[in-house]
Amino acid sequence: MADIVQVLTTNPLAKQLGVPQPTRLRRGRELPSGPVVLGAAGGSPSIVRRTLDLLGVPVQDALRDVPEARVTETDDKGRERQVPPSYPARIGAVLVDATAVTSIADLEEVRQVLRPALRSLEPSARVVVVGVEPETAGGPVAVAAQQALEGVVRSVGKELRRGATANLVRVDLLTGTPTTPEDLGSTMSFLLEGRSAYVSGQVFHVGHADEGRVGDLTTPRPFEGRIVVVTGAGRGIGASIAEVFARDGAAVVAVDVPAGGQGLASVANKIGGTALQLDITVPDAGSRIAAHVAQRFGEGARIHTIVHNAGITRDKLLVNTDEDRWGSVLEVNLAAQTRINEILLDPELPGGLDDEGRIIGVASTSGIAGNRGQANYAASKAGVVGLVRAMGADQGLAARGITVNAVAPGFIETEMTAKIPLATREIGRRINSLQQGGRPVDVAEAIAWFAQPASAAVTGQVLRVCGQSQLGA
Ligand code: NAD
Repeated sequence: MADIVQVLTTNPLAKQLGVPQPTRLRRGRELPSGPVVLGAAGGSPSIVRRTLDLLGVPVQDALRDVPEARVTETDDKGRERQVPPSYPARIGAVLVDATAVTSIADLEEVRQVLRPALRSLEPSARVVVVGVEPETAGGPVAVAAQQALEGVVRSVGKELRRGATANLVRVDLLTGTPTTPEDLGSTMSFLLEGRSAYVSGQVFHVGHADEGRVGDLTTPRPFEGRIVVVTGAGRGIGASIAEVFARDGAAVVAVDVPAGGQGLASVANKIGGTALQLDITVPDAGSRIAAHVAQRFGEGARIHTIVHNAGITRDKLLVNTDEDRWGSVLEVNLAAQTRINEILLDPELPGGLDDEGRIIGVASTSGIAGNRGQANYAASKAGVVGLVRAMGADQGLAARGITVNAVAPGFIETEMTAKIPLATREIGRRINSLQQGGRPVDVAEAIAWFAQPASAAVTGQVLRVCGQSQLGA
């Protein structure tokens, strides 16, 4: 049965009938079309400006809402009022370098930069505030002021309309291993481009990678000559992940259950990758992936990225959940990937994970917020979050340059979500700041950003790709 709301919103009469039209989001590698403006709070913009220079993105100075810059406006009734200075044309992004914010008074400067900009944003514009990790900021007031930035960004995300997003990036400037513009580059470029279309109200963390580890920041094909394994690639989000990695130059190994053979073969053919029919829950799944890589690409070949995307749901209230429903979900969504990682992390294994490799999990907002009828699924996805935190903090992996991260998708339009009953589905689709469901490609782009050689300074993170869903926010 056709989804009634989908029919209504695609019908040309819908607008006249007053059905809300979701904004078409800017996607892909497209930068904003209007200017990118930069302002600072608490000091002069330094790391953000230098990062944009590296990326070759031109920036203009932001206007400020200070009393002397305000202009007098007369309304239709002849009344005069003071309004903030306005930009001559719509702007594509406003960036605030708030790394020097240490006091509550400094926060006023964040407001000064944001107010004029928020009145002039183009559709799918970007608001990006860059701060430092609060715990490194100094005394309680400095920590409070840095933490306050999160409140600003999460609220602005909820106020924005027409596909615009707001995110906070935290860097390390005050520790022994400070974040450099090279470390920050891949994250700033992801945020400015349409690749981050469905990411809003989130906090990004960028640390520091050892000398020489940060790959090329501006190449559109960062995975050229690299092998990427994607599980559950036969359809849905996994198929999109495989396509995005292939677009960006990777040789993709698409893995799915033998029963999903048809879909798997057509995905692999479409992207010129190889297909591996494999149930990831078999005990030797990791060795079989490695053997496939060594056999197809040669003894010396190693995996650059493994994306643990395969997942299942077996929803029931816990009161009705038997050991099979419980066990199968935990097995596919969590246990299988721990076994596969253990095997692939053997540095001696032909076809194993390379140094400077990437492990990427797929969690879910259900794993963060919990969900009625999904105790098994939420357990497995919360487990993925725990796994990423633990492995991201592992010094042995860090020494090898291996990063471990996960995405937590919200409502994404796939066969999995198409099965949700209509009313629940409509709520899921709309209760987020972008007022629409995300697309598989939105999840895929976030995963590819984590995997990029240029994202070497990003590890142990879980990024929600949920349009700032109110679920568990
Ligand atoms: P999907 O059901 O459309 O695709 C999942 C794929 O995984 C299928 O091709 C399936 O055959 C494969 N798979 C399942 N068990 C497997 C096994 N044992 N071995 C190998 N392959 C196996 O699901 P999707 O919506 O594309 O979801 C992909 C991932 O994203 C899952 O981990 C899911 O939990 C997660 N996720 C999805 C959403 C969403 O809104 N769709 C939201 C949050 C998280």
